[in-house]
Amino acid sequence: MMVGSDVPTFSGRREAVRTTCPYCGVGCGVLITREPDGAHSVQGDPEHPANFGRLCSKGAALAETLDVSDRLLAPRVAGRETDWDSALNLVATRLRQTIDEHGPDSVAFYVSGQLLTEDYYVANKFVKGWLGNANIDTNSRLCMASSVAGHRRAFGTDTVPGTYEDLELADLVVLVGSNLAWCHPVLFQRLQAAREARPCMRIVLIDPRRTATTELADLHLSLAPDSDIALFGGLLCALDDNGAIDTAFADAHVDGFETALASVRGLDVDTVAALTALTPVELESFYALFSATDRVVSVYSQGVNQSARGTDTVHAIIDCHLATGRIGRPGMGPFSITGQPNAMGGREVGGLSNMLAAHVELGNARARARVQKFWGSPCIAEKPGPMAVELFERVRDGKIKAVWIMATNPVDSLPDADRVRDALARCPFVVVSDVVEGSDTGAVADVLLPSAAWSEKDGTVTNSERRISRQRCFRTALDLAKPDWWQIAEVAKRLECVDVNGRPAFDWVGPAEIFREHAALSAAAGSPDFDIGAAASLDDAGYDALAPFQWPWREGSAPGERRFFADGVFHTPSGRGRMWPIEVQPFIATPAGCTEDRSPGRKPTRTPTRTVILNTGRIRDQWHTMTRTGRVARLSSHLAEPFAEIAPVDADALGINGADIVELASASGKVRMRALVTDRQRPGSVFVPMHWSDAWASRARVDALVSRTVDPVSGQPASKSEPVKLARWGAASYAFAVSAHRPDGLRTALGNDYWALSPTATGWRIEIASTDSPALLLERLDALLVGAAYVDRAIERVSHDDSSAGLGRRLLLEGTRLATAWFVGPAPVGLARRWLAEQIGQQVTGTNARHRLLAGRPEDDLPDPGATVCACFDVGATTIKMAITADGNCTTVAKVGARTRAGTNCGSCRPEIRRMLEAESSLDHSLFVKRPVLFNSPVVEV
Ligand code: SF4
Repeated sequence: MMVGSDVPTFSGRREAVRTTCPYCGVGCGVLITREPDGAHSVQGDPEHPANFGRLCSKGAALAETLDVSDRLLAPRVAGRETDWDSALNLVATRLRQTIDEHGPDSVAFYVSGQLLTEDYYVANKFVKGWLGNANIDTNSRLCMASSVAGHRRAFGTDTVPGTYEDLELADLVVLVGSNLAWCHPVLFQRLQAAREARPCMRIVLIDPRRTATTELADLHLSLAPDSDIALFGGLLCALDDNGAIDTAFADAHVDGFETALASVRGLDVDTVAALTALTPVELESFYALFSATDRVVSVYSQGVNQSARGTDTVHAIIDCHLATGRIGRPGMGPFSITGQPNAMGGREVGGLSNMLAAHVELGNARARARVQKFWGSPCIAEKPGPMAVELFERVRDGKIKAVWIMATNPVDSLPDADRVRDALARCPFVVVSDVVEGSDTGAVADVLLPSAAWSEKDGTVTNSERRISRQRCFRTALDLAKPDWWQIAEVAKRLECVDVNGRPAFDWVGPAEIFREHAALSAAAGSPDFDIGAAASLDDAGYDALAPFQWPWREGSAPGERRFFADGVFHTPSGRGRMWPIEVQPFIATPAGCTEDRSPGRKPTRTPTRTVILNTGRIRDQWHTMTRTGRVARLSSHLAEPFAEIAPVDADALGINGADIVELASASGKVRMRALVTDRQRPGSVFVPMHWSDAWASRARVDALVSRTVDPVSGQPASKSEPVKLARWGAASYAFAVSAHRPDGLRTALGNDYWALSPTATGWRIEIASTDSPALLLERLDALLVGAAYVDRAIERVSHDDSSAGLGRRLLLEGTRLATAWFVGPAPVGLARRWLAEQIGQQVTGTNARHRLLAGRPEDDLPDPGATVCACFDVGATTIKMAITADGNCTTVAKVGARTRAGTNCGSCRPEIRRMLEAESSLDHSLFVKRPVLFNSPVVEV
């Protein structure tokens, strides 16, 4: 195990541990230094080829996730702590019994793109080689399965042809369904720097929303949801019309060219305009730019993949590159960016239920035999297993009776999430391996197994450009936490999983040995693209010191960078790329107008509702279901509660004001969140982040709204086009509270009300709305916030009520220090929220200080810094806006940075600062000083 600063790095220096950020598919290298006081500091690794020293706000805050407060530290069976032996014996026994009684298909694994490749490899080997089926799928199914399917159909293998460098070398970068600025920030920074160096570079953004990425775009195509396929079908037609097809390349290297072209013949600009809701001028601009530019990279992400036509859309994008021969050469090609840190590693080992291992197809009998021979396994999976959504349907139907879930939270992240929770509640045996104890999925587990965290385990991950990097351990695993691979191997040993010669098949001493086996299999399996056979001969020291490298790395060769398909040779049986005919359908029209809810059996209500298209996605400073980032105060202060972005026209029609609470409902569920009215949102659609779970909010698990519709080829859920009903939620009272203590029993105390909890530097903040009167809510908060926490302690209550206005304000002082404060009113409560949060634990001396606190406002010369914009230096929106308006000299992002430090470290907030500069003419300095904020909003609306 590698601990502290004694670890040799791949460049031979000894001052820090080189490892990899565990968040997104960019796969940035980080340097971890242990400070003399025992704390850890994080820097971007200047030698890592993915980021060259850069980090985003999440990566820069990694050291703050090392807090152990909600770690799962010991195995638990039925809620009671136990030792590993007992827990593993139970898991092995129950798996054995289930298989004996119901057959191997009654057992399944659901794993994660956050596992290391070594964990993934062991899970896949156990299921496909010893259970003999493919009952293993991964949450990467939700992220990029359509790209995998598109690659395999077009190229014959799941191959990302290009490298990150291609984005910098391109003359035109097309970003499709990708908010790169927030979801892959370091790649965005690289693109931004390349554009500054080469201003002639053009960038087109294709996204229904105006996101932070728009800041970099020369052209933003705000198309109708799910109409990308028509846009790219029209592009292929335009490429032909404009004489931009490379007929020599297509003739020599592409099958299906004529059929694909015939399928888009009718897609002239007017037709595509009608299908996409774009204007003919916008389309002509894009088509002309694409036609005239040789070096084009098309970057696509979840906006393309998470669609009922995701595979076809991916293929439509690829077809434009195949038809023009713009693939595999510097600065050109289609480029899928993965969401998770090791989605690619999972693809390499067969984490998806329709792949075997080492990029081998389950349907390829010869390759299958090679894998079985290599493993010496008694059996081998022969046909694809259930994909994620279907897997949990089988759990619900009782066909799967034992499921082991690792490093993921499907109760929040799968579509129809309430149904998934119900399925797991019905399942006779659920094992969850996780780092934290309080996940919504862990709550329905029979057995909880404590996994080693990012900082505590060794292994490898692969980023979006096929680069394999080492993740290195720099802390001893806490208490009983163990790596995920070890947990599976121990169960396999208890199940006496030996190879056909009777030798142990799951008996590794560490991840280096597993990696060598994985590398050797990649050479033996015969995949035409994924081959890292050279790494099979690494000794332990070589594995420890392994520098990031791109695959392939074949035996006998040196590691190096390469692009695929420059020679026009693809991995299909014919060796030719494959184009695919496009079937265009009208985009999802949003039913216009508002309706009163007249559901059968219900009284007519006065609350108008409107059907809108739900688009789910991510925000800048949170990761997945917030199990890691949710605990970091500075990451939570950018957007502190769940919100729905609503277009002004829809808000007006429904009587929704900014800061109201809204309700969104579909056939499968209901959520409540804060309204954020913004013209960045397309009319008729609403954007909601996917992060909030029951741990952080009363009812904001947005995947509860999403139906189980999946792409028919890839099985990837369509998470961005769900029709939902939007309405204002009729709250009668609103409250804001700050507290030194995390309040216990929020859900019990506040029942069906709206609440959202987030950490601050000194405690907690809570946003609340209720159907109770303000007076009643005030009483309930008294019980919740004072209650047991201050029994037998010397406290002083300070109150101020204005019963005519329905306002109530309370302070709780412990000695002379502020312990808790809460503010209740009949409308969203305007307060200096961040300033109040900072007062927790501060001395409150004198009457004036008490009055200030009760007013919820600092002195005029000490304005509330506002919602955090720059997470690195904790610079708020108000601070930045005041700098901009102070004397007229802060006219650039750099000048704002020089004055406030905002944007001078990771750079993730620079798009927001730029937006604030652009809005400078409408800024009113006095407003920021005096106006309290109604909620913690993104800067553009503050
Ligand atoms: Fe981590 Fe940010 Fe890099 Fe993604 S872009 S790997 S989240 S530092």
